[in-house]
Amino acid sequence: KAKSEGRNNSAYYTDGLTQSARERLMLESRLRAAILEQHLELYYQPQVQLATGQIVGAEALIRWQDPVEGLIGPNRFIPIAEQTGLIHDIGLWVIQQSCRQGVLWQQLGLGNLRIAVNVSAHQFQREGLAQHIADTLLSTGFEASLLELEMTESALITQHADAIGLLQRLKQLGIRLAIDDFGTGYSSLAYLKALPLDVLKIDKSFIDQLPEHQQDAEICKAIITLAHTLGFEVLAEGVEHQAQHDFLKQIGCDEFQGYLFSRPLPADDFAALVLQGLKQQEC
Ligand code: C2E
Ligand code: MG
Ligand code: MG
Ligand code: MG
Repeated sequence: KAKSEGRNNSAYYTDGLTQSARERLMLESRLRAAILEQHLELYYQPQVQLATGQIVGAEALIRWQDPVEGLIGPNRFIPIAEQTGLIHDIGLWVIQQSCRQGVLWQQLGLGNLRIAVNVSAHQFQREGLAQHIADTLLSTGFEASLLELEMTESALITQHADAIGLLQRLKQLGIRLAIDDFGTGYSSLAYLKALPLDVLKIDKSFIDQLPEHQQDAEICKAIITLAHTLGFEVLAEGVEHQAQHDFLKQIGCDEFQGYLFSRPLPADDFAALVLQGLKQQEC
């Protein structure tokens, strides 16, 4: 709004800082404190195999547990973490915490669950990501093949000169690589063919109006065919209704995530949900 009103809008500024800039500074210092005070927490959303209905993994989703404000979602603080560079420390912690949790769950008898971790574009720009992951796998004892990195198409392609080289180095560690929000970025078919990927996650916006929306239905079918042709698996994000689920299963989608099955859960609740499923199988 300030932009459209031009440069002379001096009333908009106080002490040289805009309202939003002050809010951002405030949030930044609170975020720094939250990191130190360990108020960041990972929630886990089940990833479910469509053919069997079994939980095969979890996506780790960060939350900020503020003593006053309550639960703060990543859309409010990840952008600020990215602007301030705090995303690097946060990102390393997310990877480490996810690996620790994975080992803990194995010890609790939850089986070989995959854990998918979101990686921000900024984390790719810095040297040492692959080394950190290698070190973390070693120090936690988490199996590389159970760790999955989720990155967006645009993050990869615009933020890293040698995206293919970096992904190849990550792939050599034995971890899995996924494209998040697939369909909303700019990746070319040539890129898809060249990148050593394992999973495409179809963005929720293509899932929302299934199965009625003819074009979205065709787009999902085309993504699945393309992915399978290239040897990738496909996961549908944001599945909320049974009709979406049934359609995705029918067209051969491999996995899904969404409120239909479960919202993201605190670690203990996630473990309870998996154990309950394992018990039902035994009966
Ligand atoms: P994303 O990776 O695409 O995650 C999916 C988002 O959709 C999550 O929101 C999840 O809670 C939500 N979701 C899942 N199923 C449904 C559904 O059925 N309906 C609806 N309406 N929403 C659903 P969340 O947890 O708020 O995360 C938002 C975004 O924040 C993530 O999008 C990801 O880009 C980012 N993010 C989350 N955790 C991290 C992290 O540890 N590091 C980084 N760099 N980014 C993160
Ligand atoms: Mg994700
Ligand atoms: Mg997504
Ligand atoms: Mg997203």
